[in-house]
Amino acid sequence: MHQTNADIRRLDIEHFIHPYTDFATFKSEGSQIAARASGVHVIDENGQRYVDGIAGLWCVNLGHGRREIVDAIAEQAATMQYYNPFGHTTNIPATLLAAELAELLPGSLNHVFYTTGGSTANDLAIRMVHYYFNRRGMPRKKKIISRVDAYHGSTYVTARLTGIHATKYDFDEVAEGLVHHVSAANLYRRPAGMDEAAFCNHLVSEFEDRILQLGPDNVAAFIAEPIMGAGGVMVAPAGYHARMHAICRRYGMLYIADEVVTAFGRLGEWSASETLYGYTPDIMIVAKGLTSGYVPLGAAIFSSEIYDVISTPQRKGAVLSLGFTYTGHAVACAAGRATIAMMKRDDVNQHVRKIGPLFQGLLSSLRSFEVVGDVRGSHLMAGIELVKDRHQRLPFGAEVGAAHRVFLACRRRGLIVRPIGNVVVLSPPLVFSQEDCRETCRIMSE
Ligand code: PLP
Repeated sequence: MHQTNADIRRLDIEHFIHPYTDFATFKSEGSQIAARASGVHVIDENGQRYVDGIAGLWCVNLGHGRREIVDAIAEQAATMQYYNPFGHTTNIPATLLAAELAELLPGSLNHVFYTTGGSTANDLAIRMVHYYFNRRGMPRKKKIISRVDAYHGSTYVTARLTGIHATKYDFDEVAEGLVHHVSAANLYRRPAGMDEAAFCNHLVSEFEDRILQLGPDNVAAFIAEPIMGAGGVMVAPAGYHARMHAICRRYGMLYIADEVVTAFGRLGEWSASETLYGYTPDIMIVAKGLTSGYVPLGAAIFSSEIYDVISTPQRKGAVLSLGFTYTGHAVACAAGRATIAMMKRDDVNQHVRKIGPLFQGLLSSLRSFEVVGDVRGSHLMAGIELVKDRHQRLPFGAEVGAAHRVFLACRRRGLIVRPIGNVVVLSPPLVFSQEDCRETCRIMSE
């Protein structure tokens, strides 16, 4: 039976619970149907084309409809789509992708645990950190320090790591006392009278004070995104991450870099921590761009130091008892390998290093509008913060829906952006051309 668009809209309202959805408008207006996609465009049910200014959700890095990834998925699905990865069975794409990741990522980040996405990778990383300190005979070292406005996922524990207040309403929090939040590295809203260097000192001192207050013997790890994404695209002050990392070292804590958004080219590098910010994390979390969003896949990647502890048999028959049915899914890992191969072949990182400054430069012209308080970001990751009064940096109230109105106005003109609070976020596919950058900024200006 052929379903009309009206049928799809009705069935959608009746049966599909969408993530992060305002039901008041959802139930009356329904969904826009994304029907097809190609290159940097997505096409709706009426054939209307939009520039995908957010690469799906920071993930479709190589653009839509790339034949090479589609073929790799189909070929692996036909050869062997899945086999149980537990214990001593592997599949070829999972093993080869792990070796490729070890090669591409910095330091001794050589040991890959696959998950189904970013939340599950962060969640698994926290369990593994606890296991690691238990195995080292430090069972009290369990607390995790995260940051206000951080986004680390939507499972029970990763929602707890997340520091965005708007995600918390009417939900419960698990494991009170497990996670503690320090301030966001929000340069735009730093205390009045502080320059960037003073703000950095302030953040680092706050972090160290918190560790001392909690007791270094109780604090296991710090988790941070190199550039905060869903919190509103916040670029930390110069030197911040390396100094936070040094503090972690001082107190025997692990540094978890959540590179779900920043790895695989969004900042013109395979990963951002070491190359751009000068520190090597103990654990790196990746997802999204790893398969260019073609199929779900995430990974927590551990240093050799951690691996040595968790892989040393404690007693005969002891098993590392965690993992998922779809850990190392053969089709997902084949998509990851195809993504990496294409990124290398087309030198996508170099393209982003070239196009990124143009994109940021064009966007910064939006500063001429009274309603724009800040334009920030790096390479192909940008946030435009809208304010009621730019001189006092006064935010719009939620009821104004300022960024949402920009989203609607852009959509009418054929561009998809993402409104988060008062920030309009852009994270286009990495294959954006100069012309795509110009068109995006022209529509934003309108
Ligand atoms: N970490 C960061 C930095 C993210 O931006 C996201 C998702 O946007 C996640 C974790 C969660 O990833 P997923 O939605 O794949 O579970």
